[in-house]
Amino acid sequence: MKILVINAGSSSLKYQLFDMENEEVLAKGNCDRIGIDGVFSYKAPGKDVSIEKDVAFPNHTVAANKVLETLVDPEIGVISDVSEIGAAGHRIVHGGSFFMEATLVDSDEVVEKIEACKTLAPLHAMPNAAGIRACRQAMPNIPHVAVFDTAFHSTMPDVAKTYALPRDLCEKYSIKRYGAHGTSHKYVSQKTAEYLGKKPEELKMVTLHLGNGSSITAVDKGRCVDTSMGLTPLAGPLMGTRCGSIDPAIVPLLLDNELVKDEKTGEMRHMNGTELNNIMNKKSGVFAVSGGYSDFRDLEARANNGDEACALALEMFGYQCKQIMAGYIAILGGVDCIVFTAGIGENGPTTRRNVCKGLLEPLGIEIDEEANQIRGTVDITGKNSKIKVLVIPTNEELMIAKETLAVATR
Ligand code: AMP
Repeated sequence: MKILVINAGSSSLKYQLFDMENEEVLAKGNCDRIGIDGVFSYKAPGKDVSIEKDVAFPNHTVAANKVLETLVDPEIGVISDVSEIGAAGHRIVHGGSFFMEATLVDSDEVVEKIEACKTLAPLHAMPNAAGIRACRQAMPNIPHVAVFDTAFHSTMPDVAKTYALPRDLCEKYSIKRYGAHGTSHKYVSQKTAEYLGKKPEELKMVTLHLGNGSSITAVDKGRCVDTSMGLTPLAGPLMGTRCGSIDPAIVPLLLDNELVKDEKTGEMRHMNGTELNNIMNKKSGVFAVSGGYSDFRDLEARANNGDEACALALEMFGYQCKQIMAGYIAILGGVDCIVFTAGIGENGPTTRRNVCKGLLEPLGIEIDEEANQIRGTVDITGKNSKIKVLVIPTNEELMIAKETLAVATR
């Protein structure tokens, strides 16, 4: 079956068409600047790359139709008719308390529930739902499946997902730990089992998805038992521009004291929650500590040239990841392996070294420095290590396609 994977943002609609016979990507690209001017990109192996500007994408529906038109284009297309697409899988950032697993979108009610998660995922819920609505309109005759970033974490026990706030407030605002990056953690935990020739049920592991956003997950017998992101993807280690978990009292301290100039009136007033949230998400993390660098390649290059702030940012990242990982090893009562994935996890030997250093004595973890320099799927376990240390590249789109296939053929 051919499956179209859709990842819709507020002004973009990314897509990948998979042939699930061999899990190959037939074509992929992005409809960008939706509602602005419209930039369309398309790439298919062996065909010319196509980038069109000023396409006029007034909304997601027009963008979805452009994708379908291009996929069947006689010159650069990869299928002869839209009916060859067997199902569409949609990446949905938050399933709230409604969705514990990938779900068939067989009614408007499912889309409305996704929209109802907008207080939990203010930037993503509405665009995600718009993407589904647009694609259901453009492809009314195929199954559409919603695949949630939070679903893998829905197996967390109460002890891991409950916040110690008044119960009525938690209930009123659906406040609990949901986690994120679930599709990636699920994918790499399954790939790890495959790589080790075992079943997921036979393994305990910690998976570290370290990228612009970073999260760490404790996986027991293929099920998530704890994860570092919380109600939102702001919790956990410090990240590229996100502050990670901080003393919550910092929030009221800043709201009560920090004054900002109101854009409309020009008057000074107290900073509001949205502005502080913006600072914590976009102006904090290693970016803030280093004085303006969020890409780990820049941080490493500058730290190697003696930039102390960049060195501190890198050290803090390794320190906080190590702290969380070691906590999860304790929670799991020991692990068989730890797994690095995503931009930094896959490409950052320095970070992997920082996370694992000094752990041979206390936890039996050591990495092999030579193997640590190799790219791709690689076993970087040191010779004295009792615990396997692996690098497994993630592939969230393929995981969405697999989940879509499973639901669509159920
Ligand atoms: P992601 O969010 O998973 O796409 O990860 C993106 C991040 O990966 C970038 O911002 C970099 O910080 C990091 N990254 C990519 N390549 C390298 C590299 N060669 N060394 C260290 N970090 C890298």
